[in-house]
Amino acid sequence: MSENAMPPSAPPRARAEIDLGALRANVRTLRAKAPGAAFMAVVKADGYGHGALACARAAVQAGAGWVGTATPEEALALRGSGALPADVRIMCWLWTPGGPWREAVEADLDVSVSGLWALEEVMLAAHAARRPARVQLKADTGLGRNGCQPGEDWDRLVAAALEAEEGGLLRITGLWSHFACADEPGHPSVAAQLGLFREMVAYAEARGVRPEVRHIANSPATLTVPESHFDLVRPGVAMYGLSPSPQLGSAADLGLRPVMTLAASLALVKQVPGGHGVSYGHHYMTPGATTLGLVPLGYADGIPRHASGTGPVLVAGKWRTVAGRIAMDQFVVDLGGDEPGAGAQAVLFGPGDRGEPTAEDWAQAAGTIGYEIVTRIGARVPRVYVNE
Ligand SMILES: *Cc1c(COP(=O)(O)O)cnc(C)c1O
Repeated sequence: MSENAMPPSAPPRARAEIDLGALRANVRTLRAKAPGAAFMAVVKADGYGHGALACARAAVQAGAGWVGTATPEEALALRGSGALPADVRIMCWLWTPGGPWREAVEADLDVSVSGLWALEEVMLAAHAARRPARVQLKADTGLGRNGCQPGEDWDRLVAAALEAEEGGLLRITGLWSHFACADEPGHPSVAAQLGLFREMVAYAEARGVRPEVRHIANSPATLTVPESHFDLVRPGVAMYGLSPSPQLGSAADLGLRPVMTLAASLALVKQVPGGHGVSYGHHYMTPGATTLGLVPLGYADGIPRHASGTGPVLVAGKWRTVAGRIAMDQFVVDLGGDEPGAGAQAVLFGPGDRGEPTAEDWAQAAGTIGYEIVTRIGARVPRVYVNE
């Protein structure tokens, strides 16, 4: 049986508490940074691990008119839930040939198109569905990932999309792009990408494209590059209360509050002698007689194995460190002789204002970014929503 299906009264082994009140406050903070722009709540990858539908609903309550996902399947699941108002626009951008274009057209999704193959597939789908598709043309202004190259490629894509629009097969609802280095303040690529975006938009508009929205700003650009806001901003990580990068300051510096708190009940507390090896490989040896606490979370739950020996955990008011290797389902902390007892709470990360570490602390311990810490928390950990 899935732990998610357990009755709410059963004390869970571990849980990710999701504070939707914090999420709504973060959305309002971000909207205030971009007052003239519409707001797209990015909820790809199950809402960065927080739960896509619950987060999308909370964001809409706080004023988001758009929701964004990577894959069409994610977007279709949101529309199919029926839990979002029908006038909330849902956009997805990561398509591969043979994707569910027809379902997307019928679900009124805004679909991103970066090349002619995709334009052809969406036109066929719109023809079959007998209704126009909502298409947003994506420009690669320098990220070097998805998006149409400037120059001849863009000219051809714009011309083909306009022809399809005149034929009634689609409506070009947006022109958009994505930054490479907006989390590095003053990086020259930001101004270069903005300049190229303006040129590519101007070219399309001069040919007759009338987009509802032009957009390029992710979280760091929403927070720090006002000239990038155009008609819409697309924050993800900041909405979940994480700073996009330590260079931009902490979440608190940015007026954001972390939404996820990850905690577990200690499965065992026991006394051990000095010189006792701990966990696979014995990379930790108890320096003297001590107590060990067993935390029932491991890399199968998304706890990064790279944080073996370094990840911080709050237990009974004190910061402890992962002792030895993080295993698939569990890891150990040295409690230094304290005996909080089985069932005591181990808080891996949260907002930080109750003395607990933050996802950013875990990112540093594991040599990664906060995005990855929250996004990888696995399906075995139930999400518990508060402040709905
Ligand atoms: C993930 C993503 C975002 C949000 O990025 P953050 O850095 O989390 O704000 C915006 N746009 C696109 C295209 C994305 O893939």
